Amino acid sequence: SDAWTYLLLIFLMDIIISTVLWYRFTYRNVHSIKTITNEVKEVAKGNYSRTIRYEYDDEIGDLVKTFNYMSSELKSSMQDMYDKNSKLEAVLKSIVNGVIAIDNSGNVILINDSAKRILDISDAEVIGKHLLEVIRNYKLAQALDDYINNRTDVVLDFEITLPPSKNLSVFINPIMSSEFHNKRVGSVIVFNDITELKRLEKVRSDFVANVSHELRTPLTSIMGFVETLRDGNVKDEDTLKKFLDIISLETERLTRLINDILTLSKIENVKEDINKELIDLKSEIEDVIYILENKAKGKNIKVSLSVQPDNLKVSADKDWIHQLLLNLIDNSIKYNKDNGYIWIRAWEDIQNVCISVKDTGIGIKGEYIPRIFERFYRVDKGRSGNAGGTGLGLAIVKHIVESMNGNIHVSSIPGQGTEFFITIKK
Ligand code: ADP
Repeated sequence: SDAWTYLLLIFLMDIIISTVLWYRFTYRNVHSIKTITNEVKEVAKGNYSRTIRYEYDDEIGDLVKTFNYMSSELKSSMQDMYDKNSKLEAVLKSIVNGVIAIDNSGNVILINDSAKRILDISDAEVIGKHLLEVIRNYKLAQALDDYINNRTDVVLDFEITLPPSKNLSVFINPIMSSEFHNKRVGSVIVFNDITELKRLEKVRSDFVANVSHELRTPLTSIMGFVETLRDGNVKDEDTLKKFLDIISLETERLTRLINDILTLSKIENVKEDINKELIDLKSEIEDVIYILENKAKGKNIKVSLSVQPDNLKVSADKDWIHQLLLNLIDNSIKYNKDNGYIWIRAWEDIQNVCISVKDTGIGIKGEYIPRIFERFYRVDKGRSGNAGGTGLGLAIVKHIVESMNGNIHVSSIPGQGTEFFITIKK
């Protein structure tokens, strides 16, 4: 029976040992797998930089190593993606062009602020919506829809006018996927607001047309009189003199016109970098009055000048100030009545130097005031022409004032008089 007891003891010991061992391994494995599962869950949630500690060099150890490697790789490629994304976002935010990306069904996958601004999209959330829901402009939506439906893989480039008067240039580029056999997976639409460009183009072509017209009129007249004189049919001394006078007048008008055009283009071409100097306003105005003295006397117009303080200075280009005063005071004589008055005043406030030229002339009707600064605009072509006007005087004045960061205002009562009021920042 001793042997039996001995055997039983061995058997029991065996069971205990194997239970302990089994328990140890299984517990460790289960525990490790639990840990790994938790960590994988964390990664799935987006916490990429997880690592697990495991000291044993077994199969689970291999798994843990692989996990740690994967998580660090994931972390760095995610970081890469974030970097690229934020760069892309920064670029999209800062460009003035509107950018919209859509998928093949026309749903918006990306849109930048400029696109919202240009297309007047006020909805906060447009991602995922169909383009037609987002762009409420039928014409543009139609053009884009055509493109999407035709599934063309070409780059499209067209211009479109949106009401009331916005000009856009639109580029559509297909987005090709490198993964799906170079198939089109969507499109990028880029908008440029070219309204201002179009306007400038129109201003330019209008200007050229106007210049040609203005030059042709005196030239035609001169040519007509020269032909008549050359035919030798005019024998009468008085008529001859009258013809020559007209030719001389028209030539003067041509010269004035060309001078004004040159002045205007000179002011336009010089941007910021003007030859500034401190100018004594009083003596500058007196110079201009002196030049125009005879013209004023011809209509018996009295000119009064008040500058306060006496030594008021303005920092500007001397030629331009001269030109500005000349044009304004010349107008106040040209469009004045006989025996009229002109008051010229200059003074300063905290920020500005102010100049006012006021006359007792024919005045300007309110409806014309917004247009008088346009090139070649004249309220009464006949009257302006007779007085030697080119229609460019006030356009030049406005350009000069703007290039000095100043402002110009007009107030006028038809039949009573006009005041031009200029402020220039000190
Ligand atoms: P213009 O060479 O015809 O004088 P401006 O550009 O100097 O051209 O002026 C544009 C138009 O504005 C003039 O044709 C005139 O009708 C009007 N105008 C300008 N100054 C005055 C003024 N002081 N009083 C009345 N009308 C004025």
